[in-house]
Amino acid sequence: MALTGLQIFKLLPKTNCGECGIPTCMAFAMKLAAKSAELAACPYASDEAKKTIGAASKPPIRLVKIGPPDHEVLVGNETVLFRHEKTFVHPTAFAVAFSDAEPIIESCHEIAKVRDYCLERVGERLELNLLLVDNQSEEVEPFVELVKTAAGSTGKGLILRSVNPEALEAGLRVLEGQRPLIHAATPENAEQLAALALQYNAPLVARASTLDELVALTTRLASLGVKDLVLDLPSDNPAATLQYNTLIRKMALKSSFEPLGYPVINFLSGDDLSSLVADASTLICKYASILVLNRMDVSLLLPLMMLRQNIYTDPQKPVQVEPKVYPIGDPGADSPVLTTTNFSLTYFLVSGEIENSGVPAHLVIVETEGMSVLTGWAAGKFTGAKIAAAVKASGLENRIKNRKLIIPGCVAQISGEIEEGLPGWEVLVGPGEVIDLAPYLKKQAGR
Ligand code: SF4
Repeated sequence: MALTGLQIFKLLPKTNCGECGIPTCMAFAMKLAAKSAELAACPYASDEAKKTIGAASKPPIRLVKIGPPDHEVLVGNETVLFRHEKTFVHPTAFAVAFSDAEPIIESCHEIAKVRDYCLERVGERLELNLLLVDNQSEEVEPFVELVKTAAGSTGKGLILRSVNPEALEAGLRVLEGQRPLIHAATPENAEQLAALALQYNAPLVARASTLDELVALTTRLASLGVKDLVLDLPSDNPAATLQYNTLIRKMALKSSFEPLGYPVINFLSGDDLSSLVADASTLICKYASILVLNRMDVSLLLPLMMLRQNIYTDPQKPVQVEPKVYPIGDPGADSPVLTTTNFSLTYFLVSGEIENSGVPAHLVIVETEGMSVLTGWAAGKFTGAKIAAAVKASGLENRIKNRKLIIPGCVAQISGEIEEGLPGWEVLVGPGEVIDLAPYLKKQAGR
């Protein structure tokens, strides 16, 4: 049962030492009650506090692991309704569905595309996570063949979907130790599928047609000893799915309602690309833990991958790169020197445009706590003095003959301050928009 802040406070040492990073025990207790802090941050918590608060601060949405260890997908463990409250933790896992009723040759071709798909953005590799093998034939042999092909050629985790328990068991035997997600236990087959999930140590989807049925089903499965559950509450339209997802998340977080404290799986359907993107975007934001795509389509994946990356970054921790000098291309003593901030997006955009220009350059990245150029300048983190200090500390002056520093055009006003801090250097004001950087560098290089 959830404890109030006051109840938690009574169990804390009440010394207000601040070692947990929060000035008072009361403030820490309030954060624990809101599940936005962890008791482990207090080094002086008693055993009694650990036992009582630990049980009460159990994650309201269970963490479920799917797939083999080297491609393990984690879903659940979320603690907030809105990303800005703290952060969303485990990104929506994207799965692509394959049917054993399709010719295996065609499936092989598409499965290879799932394996090879990779989009690189701001230093992260964005990939597909799971494959769903659908036993539409309801026969064992084609299902097992497709399971072997999907697992063998990608190494990724699988979702095994079938109404035939014999086919499911055959697939589970092939994937022993690889924790495939079994789809799905229903009110009609709960005992049989619970036994399979326990025997093969695999997570299990609980599927029901109403919320009440789903609550009864997860309660029954939990009483049978199945802990790793994923919820599936099908609906006719995306609006209803959104309502169900929101209701499930609210019940789990706000009412600590254990029968709904599990990750959620949603399925995309339809052919119209714009509708698919719109539906999937809604479900990524609210609150699909696993999203099954009905086809392998790069034009569908591109916006979804970028949205997922944006939603699942921690809003309190800007994504940063290490402040240092980055050689872009193979710069020499006469190559231009540029500077910008250590906000990842800024770094990758600027370095990408330098690469596009074909002009090798030294890029001096200044520590701005992950702020972008204008934000860093406004916050006093990207000042003339700091840029001058970063260039001096980089040791560049000993390695290059060029004494020209190109700064972002939107902070042209600090050029004089930089020149004061870097005697002998000339500051050139570059373009205000990164898109204009490549032509600018080419022009500077006389190309
Ligand atoms: Fe209180 Fe523990 Fe935080 Fe110290 S570290 S302020 S004792 S909660």
